[in-house]
Amino acid sequence: MLKTKEILDEKNKILHTVSKEVTFPLTKKDKELIDTMIEYLHDSQIEELSEKYDLRPGMGLSAIQLGVPKRFFVVVYEVSEPEAETKEFETYVLINPRMISNSVEQIYVTDGEGCLSVNRPVEGIVPRYARVTFEAYDMEGRQIHVRAREDLAICFQHELDHLNGILFTDHIDPKDPYKGRDQMRGI
Ligand code: ZN
Repeated sequence: MLKTKEILDEKNKILHTVSKEVTFPLTKKDKELIDTMIEYLHDSQIEELSEKYDLRPGMGLSAIQLGVPKRFFVVVYEVSEPEAETKEFETYVLINPRMISNSVEQIYVTDGEGCLSVNRPVEGIVPRYARVTFEAYDMEGRQIHVRAREDLAICFQHELDHLNGILFTDHIDPKDPYKGRDQMRGI
């Protein structure tokens, strides 16, 4: 089981490297890593489990955050109603992803973006597209197209950045951390 401390911290330079394309079929190790990432993200969003195993809640992880410079990421996105007794999730595994279209409209996370590799409060906002379409491959090597909007779209863009060695903090100008806020919609 993946532990929070195994996720690389922003101080680690590996996070600033550009990951390499994945070749198919996936190796057994790649598949195991993906399963581990899904398990972590799922459990971290369930309060009893995140407390029990000391997991920091998160919805997305890229392979590079575990020191593996391959172009894939995993997103476990909660889809249940707020009052639902048991949480429901949708799981996305995007391999060799590309953003093939995006909305003109931009949005940002009002409370600021978070990242499992950034363990400090960060002031500022990151402009993201409100709606995106990604082309990628699934675990069997089949091409897929995924549309995302709002927070899921932000998550996809955040993870794609990781594959290019970019952290969300890199987008924030410390001298003007809320630059452009008036032209965007906060969510
Ligand atoms: Zn991140």
